[in-house]
Amino acid sequence: MGQMGCTCGNRIGLVVYPSPHTAHVIAEQDLQGINARVAHLVSAYLDAAANDTKDQFYEEYHRFPRPDATHGEIIAGIVDTLIFDVTRPAYQCIYCGRIWFESRGSELPLPFKPEREWRGLLETQPEDFLGYEPQPALHDCKLQSVEQHEDRVDVTFTDGSDQHVLVRFHGVKSLEQKISHDDKGGFYAHFLGRWKSTPPFHRYLFEDYYDRADGDYLAIVAEGYTLLDNLTANAESNNEMVA
Ligand SMILES: [Zn+2]
Repeated sequence: MGQMGCTCGNRIGLVVYPSPHTAHVIAEQDLQGINARVAHLVSAYLDAAANDTKDQFYEEYHRFPRPDATHGEIIAGIVDTLIFDVTRPAYQCIYCGRIWFESRGSELPLPFKPEREWRGLLETQPEDFLGYEPQPALHDCKLQSVEQHEDRVDVTFTDGSDQHVLVRFHGVKSLEQKISHDDKGGFYAHFLGRWKSTPPFHRYLFEDYYDRADGDYLAIVAEGYTLLDNLTANAESNNEMVA
């Protein structure tokens, strides 16, 4: 299963691993038992290795048929398998925030809709990450241009129906970007992340959602930003020209 349909119409991709929008949920009842199961299997394996009866071990626990693997790899495999046995994946839709819990058995995943800000909920984040901005909503928006005028940076996105979203950063201290123009069809940011920097600055980060592995990004250290639609932006530029 490469993707899954969400109630909102979005397709949730299930291919990226590890995904920042997927978690694995473990029941508290299982959590208690997992240590004991790991201990049991690891000692069974170590005994087998010491007594030269590894073949029997693999026969009994045929899920780990890796006779050439090191002790460390086998034990890591045991732990991984047990964790995947007792956890259930939960996928978050990056458009509407619904979390789809995979049910036990053959039931379809069950959606839960958030009542508050949800971006980044299932993600591991470093300490200096402050959160995702609720606006701009950049779903299906492609980076169009980045223009710098002194300490101002205008970042423009267009959505599928050619509507523009303009994010205007002010008090800009630095601008960094890595945008590789390959065949994936452009830079799709989806979210604007806000990171700690020296006050009064923040580090604002757009990451290419479809190209996280290559780490494409646009980072702007600035005092703040405003959202403008195209008309407002043009009117402002004209005013500036007149002035
Ligand atoms: Zn959705």
